[in-house]
Amino acid sequence: MFDELSGKLDFVLAQFRARGLLTEAMVRDGLREVRRVLLEADVNFAVTRSFLDRVQERALGEAVLKSVSPGQQVVKIVHDELAALLGDEAPTIRWASRPPTVVLVVGLQGSGKTTTAGKLARRFQREGREPMLAACDLYRPAAVEQLRTLAERVGVDFHGGDPGGDPVKVAVEAYRIAQDRKKAVLVVDTAGRLQVDEPMMEELRRIRAELSPSEILLVADAMTGQEAVRIAEGFDKALDLTGIILTKMDGDARGGAALSIRGVVGKPIKFIGTGEGLDDLDPADPRRLADRILQRGDVVGLVERAQRAFDVEETKKLEGKVLGSGRFTLEDFLTAISQVRKMGPFGDLMKMIPGVARLAPKTELDPKRIKHVEAIILSMTPDERRRPEILNGSRRARIAKGSGRSVAEVNRLLKQFKEMKKMMRQMKGMQGIQGMRGMSGLLPH
Ligand code: GDP
Ligand code: MG
Repeated sequence: MFDELSGKLDFVLAQFRARGLLTEAMVRDGLREVRRVLLEADVNFAVTRSFLDRVQERALGEAVLKSVSPGQQVVKIVHDELAALLGDEAPTIRWASRPPTVVLVVGLQGSGKTTTAGKLARRFQREGREPMLAACDLYRPAAVEQLRTLAERVGVDFHGGDPGGDPVKVAVEAYRIAQDRKKAVLVVDTAGRLQVDEPMMEELRRIRAELSPSEILLVADAMTGQEAVRIAEGFDKALDLTGIILTKMDGDARGGAALSIRGVVGKPIKFIGTGEGLDDLDPADPRRLADRILQRGDVVGLVERAQRAFDVEETKKLEGKVLGSGRFTLEDFLTAISQVRKMGPFGDLMKMIPGVARLAPKTELDPKRIKHVEAIILSMTPDERRRPEILNGSRRARIAKGSGRSVAEVNRLLKQFKEMKKMMRQMKGMQGIQGMRGMSGLLPH
């Protein structure tokens, strides 16, 4: 999901991140690219415009450009605003003061209503709120059977009518049964049409009038892009939705519907469907979705943790050396390692570093190895750390003994250090937290 959007956004944002210095003009240019990417992802035009206005205002204010890591800050702003675009907080279900809470599932034919009704029942049951399913799509004979089968698979009670019967009557019967059996939630599956039409809305309004649902959730197919947004508008006007469930997000690489619906319709996405299975329903937490879109593990967490852990002075000094004005020594290497280590468990950290998430299996770093490297460097004299070229055989043997590591390991470290320095010469231009990206390469593997 979001693959196409993610990939392109990643490319554009990488250019921000790669710069140590940002000017206002660079920000404007970069954001123009972001705009193009959003429009290509089929995000609504007006939503895109107001999104970029907000990002630009924040990026050019807030002393972002003067900060240690302006590029990362801009990426963080994009992240925050993406989350805001999707809603303010993780949406929840409104529970009725007197059970059963009625959740009315509406939408066009084929959007995934019946499947989603089953998924919701599974979810409520897992949360310990005993659900019941009601089949009120009496137009297609197979529809009732489809939901009955799902109810059996989830292991919950079910009530359905006969094909051709009155869906409103079935809904009312189901409500009474759920009440008698003290169910916590009644999930009502309804009939859809091929497009928004008045008789369908009229039927749904009648069910609504009888059952007073706490939730009227529109199930919309994310693959249809802006069409899903228009459909949501139509349903909202007719029924005053309480939320939206976007299905088939597993197949929607662009994400236009997901990013537009909240802004256009003003109703939150409450869940997203990510497959045909009963467990393929995720709460639509805006922050987590923004993380997925930016495909970078938790960028926000990274920036925040980095800002907490990195000693600005020390980092500045290191940068000077990495950038070539000073000499990068094994002593500096030690400082770099200990700064990176301060940031927390290694696996977590590595996953948060831009780009590493995707390379994860290859970049798996063993914290034990890091400790060994530290031990070896600490066994050297200050002079040796500054001028590793003086490390002859006997010095190496002494260091190996002192650190409790083998001579081969000492040799390997020195070889890696040499290669690393070579690499650093190619990394010029990196600054600030970008240095960390380099540091993932600096560490031994
Ligand atoms: P309804 O007509 O609205 O009740 O739609 P159905 O629940 O019968 O679903 C229509 C088709 O979409 C079925 O083949 C479902 O398996 C499929 N479907 C529903 N939700 C999802 C989803 O989140 N991802 C994928 N890949 N398929 C889904
Ligand atoms: Mg159906």
